[in-house]
Amino acid sequence: MDFVISEELRMIQSTLRKLVDQDIRPRLAGLDPDAIELPEKDKQQLREKVKKLGMQAMGAPLEYGGGGVGTLGLCLAAEELAKHRLGSYRPTLGAFCGHFAGEAPGNLLFCNAEQRERYLLPVIRLEKESCFALTEPDAGTDTANIRTSAVREGDHWILNGEKRFITGGDAADFAMVFAVTDKKLKAKGGITCFLVDKETPGFKMARLIPVIRPWYPAELVFTDCVVPAENVLGEVGQGFEMIQAWLGQNRMLYSANVVGTADESLKLAVDYANVRQTFGQPLSSRQAIQWMIADSAVELYAARLLVYSCAWKMENKVGGDLRMEVSMVKLFATEMVGRVVDRAIQVHGGMGVTKELPLERWYREPRIKRIGEGTSEIHRQVISRGIIRGFYPYNPFEKVS
Ligand SMILES: Cc1cc2nc3c(=O)[nH]c(=O)nc-3n(C[C@H](O)[C@H](O)[C@H](O)COP(=O)(O)OP(=O)(O)OC[C@H]3O[C@@H](n4cnc5c(N)ncnc54)[C@H](O)[C@@H]3O)c2cc1C
Repeated sequence: MDFVISEELRMIQSTLRKLVDQDIRPRLAGLDPDAIELPEKDKQQLREKVKKLGMQAMGAPLEYGGGGVGTLGLCLAAEELAKHRLGSYRPTLGAFCGHFAGEAPGNLLFCNAEQRERYLLPVIRLEKESCFALTEPDAGTDTANIRTSAVREGDHWILNGEKRFITGGDAADFAMVFAVTDKKLKAKGGITCFLVDKETPGFKMARLIPVIRPWYPAELVFTDCVVPAENVLGEVGQGFEMIQAWLGQNRMLYSANVVGTADESLKLAVDYANVRQTFGQPLSSRQAIQWMIADSAVELYAARLLVYSCAWKMENKVGGDLRMEVSMVKLFATEMVGRVVDRAIQVHGGMGVTKELPLERWYREPRIKRIGEGTSEIHRQVISRGIIRGFYPYNPFEKVS
């Protein structure tokens, strides 16, 4: 078993660590504690820097101008890029550095040659933004139950329906919209993905939905929205398959991001415990504080190992079907971060809940991660089903030859 991170990946890690320390953190001083983006000038400078470093669109394929970095490298990147106030949700990678650590959304790799020029490449070059529109008022976890319909009329499709909680739906130049094209087949070949430009008549960004994080998702409404047939992404009926194809990597990046948040929270707690004195002694000399630090360190280590080992398997295509392992990673990591941030706040006392530190923000934002990319309940269901029905070994390393 080899747990050594390659020189190449260490370079990515240390370059991004430096970027966060030297180029992102100093720009955050003086910014509103709930800001979701840097001022345009700073963003532009950062993008230039990232380009110079050759780290733009790291996860996109080399032939399209990306970095071609695999899952483990992207996870290390997502972890490093989480370590600042605005870093606790993955899309800040986009906001800061361009679609940076593999942010050219995986589904867009289904673009045909013509669509690639209009959608995928402009996203990789930061000229366009996209959003992923699947969830609806009556279909979240139960994605197969979506009702947005698409009916073929000549060389067009007519879309009708409503999408809810769409991240980036307000800023996107186009949306990847999932709609039912065959009511009988639904998830078994009856759902199709459409590329819908924001200026298409009948496409409306109805409102932003205030949520626990300062970056609000949008509600999108489609009313007799006419979409050209050439805007079908992939094949008609391939929508559900497309979602499944990219879930794994997305969930890994999500999990790596919370490892970064937890790492930084623990660091803040340790630093504070070493300097803060009560009753003439540093907090770090008290067993109550030491135990909180120990518990967080163990949980963080476990989450990190889960992320790294599963990312390595995914990248090297070993271990067969990794769906259940990805569920374990996502479940454990996204629940772990809440406990670690909570303890870090406790170690800081009153300071922990002020906006002078990022902890109160990190107490709120990662909460969404137990809901997005599959809820904790659904991941528990996937894991327990596999174990109870006997098609998943208790020791996943038995699957690795
Ligand atoms: C801030 C934010 C951003 C988002 N961004 C996007 C986006 O960009 N694009 C997009 O398409 N969607 C997005 N979503 C939607 C997100 O994916 C859904 O909220 C999520 O899938 C859960 O669906 P739901 O909210 O309808 O909850 P429901 O499906 O109604 O579930 C409610 C509760 O019941 C549980 N539950 C449901 N079914 C079962 C079951 N069979 N057994 C046991 N428990 C069950 C769930 O785990 C949950 O605890 C976003 C959501 C939020 C909050």
